[in-house]
Amino acid sequence: MDIHEYQAKELLSNFGVPIPRGSVAYTPDQAVYCAREIGGNRWVIKAQIHSGGRGQAGGIRICSTEHEVHAAAADLLGRTLVTKQTGSQGKLVQRLYVEIAVPIAKELYVGFVLDRRAERVCVVATPEGGMEIEEIAAQSPDSLMRVVIEPAVGMQSFQARELCFGLGLDAAQIPDATRAVLGAYRAFRDLDATMVEINPLAVTVDGRVLALDAKMTFDDNALFRRPNVRELRDYTEEDPREAEASKYGLNYVGLDGQIGCIVNGAGLAMATMDMIKLAGAEPANFLDVGGGASPDRVAAAFRLVLADPRVKVVLVNIFAGINRCDWIAQGVVQAARDLSVTTPIVARLAGTNVEEGRRILRESGLSIITADTLAEAARKAVEALHELGGGGGGGGGGTGARNGAGATTGSSAFAGVAR
Ligand code: GDP
Ligand code: MN
Repeated sequence: MDIHEYQAKELLSNFGVPIPRGSVAYTPDQAVYCAREIGGNRWVIKAQIHSGGRGQAGGIRICSTEHEVHAAAADLLGRTLVTKQTGSQGKLVQRLYVEIAVPIAKELYVGFVLDRRAERVCVVATPEGGMEIEEIAAQSPDSLMRVVIEPAVGMQSFQARELCFGLGLDAAQIPDATRAVLGAYRAFRDLDATMVEINPLAVTVDGRVLALDAKMTFDDNALFRRPNVRELRDYTEEDPREAEASKYGLNYVGLDGQIGCIVNGAGLAMATMDMIKLAGAEPANFLDVGGGASPDRVAAAFRLVLADPRVKVVLVNIFAGINRCDWIAQGVVQAARDLSVTTPIVARLAGTNVEEGRRILRESGLSIITADTLAEAARKAVEALHELGGGGGGGGGGTGARNGAGATTGSSAFAGVAR
């Protein structure tokens, strides 16, 4: 999970990382009010979107009067910023961060990442801050310093001091800079982050060290124990399909094919995708409704899958152990009625309360195609697709391993299990 710059700054500041005074605004009037509260006579108005490269895209404005603050805020709010990281569709600016502008003498870079190969937290730092790390790595790779942290002891003061000397800081700045680096490390560790980036870590003209920009990414699987981090989630910054899914605790990854899948269990979901491919079509999504899915959750899954215009046929494949086939069937029927679905539905139910589940489907009055095995279900789904004249080609690949579910189509490791 990513968060906004102002949120990252607040978290880091709690760990002793020095930041300039600032506050959030949602309207131009609020921005002016913030500037007045902050004081001074120069402010930076910063577009809050989950992306770097905002400066180059025009998302960072320096203002010297309240009138300029108002105008910059009015211009930025509601604008779609296209940065190197957003893709061509860009990201809508809905929040601003108003900060006191500090005169900068030098821009440094400090980042913390999880080095999965080393199985360690790794600090990367360079005196060549300001631009994106990819550019720095391309243009001045020799300037990059890397320090690997031993997890048993954590980051040591001497390591932080060494980095700060390497950044070319004056002796007078070393204590503050060391505190900032150690604070950022502790924030990374204690909040279950997977990335913390301070770029730039600025040296001001009057010799102070300040984090002027901050980005943090967190381990989704640890959010359950970090409620103060979890509440910072901004759903409007995410793929709307996946954001909607996560609200219902559904594990969903959007793909490019034409057969929508509603399955319980990640392994069965992958096996189902394999069987669809084997039968000659492509899945439109990976969706694991999880164990103990209530009718409401199944209905939510159904709405989500049907909301995808790519979906031409829906395949429901449930092997109910913890789940109950009758609840699944109720969810399917409820959603199909609410949405007056015309999309062909193929359902294969097995396990707990299967008879009751089948009865609910049979008596629903909906024309649901039933199947007894996964292979049969996949075949019938593909047949239904062909009857629509949909063809089996799908959108063609492009799936790859995505975050979260980690599903890849084409893996056939589970194909033999799912019957
Ligand atoms: P990014 O482009 O998304 O990484 O956004 P940043 O917050 O890093 O801002 C981009 C650039 O704007 C920085 O590298 C600075 O050069 C400049 N900038 C940001 N805050 C300040 C500030 O308080 N004072 C001054 N003078 N420049 C700033
Ligand atoms: Mn930056």
